[in-house]
Amino acid sequence: MCIRDRVKSAQPDEVAMMLETAQRVVIVPGFGMAMAQAQHAVRELANALEKNGTEVEYGIHPVAGRMPGHMNVLLAEANVSYDLLAEPDDVNPAMDSVDVAIVIGANDVVNPSATEEEGSPIYGMPIIEVHNAKTVFVLKRSMSSGFAGVQNPLFFRENTRMLFGDAKESIGLVVSEFKD
Ligand code: NDP
Repeated sequence: MCIRDRVKSAQPDEVAMMLETAQRVVIVPGFGMAMAQAQHAVRELANALEKNGTEVEYGIHPVAGRMPGHMNVLLAEANVSYDLLAEPDDVNPAMDSVDVAIVIGANDVVNPSATEEEGSPIYGMPIIEVHNAKTVFVLKRSMSSGFAGVQNPLFFRENTRMLFGDAKESIGLVVSEFKD
């Protein structure tokens, strides 16, 4: 069985439908958002959600991306308010009250092995614990690992759905479906 057959995929319309009823959403960007240059699309999605009455917050991991402050710089470029950017210690305690976590091209910084798997090379690294949200959508192109080169058990969790594709394109499709 191919590894991609072992995870649950979602289509943009399913993501949009789930977001329509979500009260709390946390967006977690990573290196893939930078690669896709998806920050403006992310802002557009957040705007649409906020217009629908959803509370949107960004979970920013200090080592997300490839340089310190990488995500902050990109989101600032897309005019995302600095007040909406939260660190792991701010978002993790209330993660179980998050209806939908959207992981946008992040991998290592949301890998539960860091807290659960003692032998893992990333064991001990703080993460953004999106696996505790009610539903998690992971936007990436494939099942490839991130910088640390380790598989991510988040992708196989019961509450996770993968939306495969380039992050900018995927978000664009979700926004179109959402507005429809
Ligand atoms: P990761 O490197 O763990 O993962 C990024 C993911 O983005 C990949 O798995 C890739 O999956 C996906 N991706 C790439 N291009 C696209 C695209 N166009 N659209 C959608 N997804 C895409 O990133 P994180 O931000 O989670 O973690 C950062 C890592 O970098 C950490 O391990 C950190 O220690 C390390 N690091 C950070 C530095 C910093 O200062 N911030 C400096 C040096 C290292 P796929 O190919 O399937 O799309």
